[in-house]
Amino acid sequence: MKTGFFKKRDAKSIFKKPEPNGVPKHDEYGRSHKGVAVCKKCHNVLFKKEWHRPGVQLSDQILLARKKGVHFVLCPSCTMIANKQYEGEVMVKNVPEKYEVELVNLIASYNEQAQKRDPQDRVITIEKSKKGYRVTTTENQLAVRLAKKIRSAFSKGRVALHISHSSEPYEVERVVLTFK
Ligand SMILES: [Zn+2]
Repeated sequence: MKTGFFKKRDAKSIFKKPEPNGVPKHDEYGRSHKGVAVCKKCHNVLFKKEWHRPGVQLSDQILLARKKGVHFVLCPSCTMIANKQYEGEVMVKNVPEKYEVELVNLIASYNEQAQKRDPQDRVITIEKSKKGYRVTTTENQLAVRLAKKIRSAFSKGRVALHISHSSEPYEVERVVLTFK
């Protein structure tokens, strides 16, 4: 075999140097991975840049890809929750006691529906304080849609709706609903 067959330049392009930390940059969320990426917390499955709910609705294509390997990550929503961040906030003020259970049930079922549409769309918390109910969401438009849903459920006349934008800590949609 001839020596010096490869020029230095050629050898460089053939034998790629490993990445410093062993993980290529573009491998975030498993984009370059052969199998699928699974969130280690909520078990959402990432396939072809889209998040899917784990379980029965996974397509054969995803199940097949999963056989090739599973790559564990923390999904954007779980990362947001872990960092105590949110993109949407709904404050519901002056909630009459007789409507409290109905309100909380409505928010919970809204969360279920939202996650069925997109598993990354979630209600993070429902907190009760003297001011009223504070609901945070992973997505800003989710807060707006939830507020409108609450308004229509309790009829327009009884709930005033106020929408404001905030730049802290980044783009956050804040909606205030007040029972008249
Ligand atoms: Zn997750």
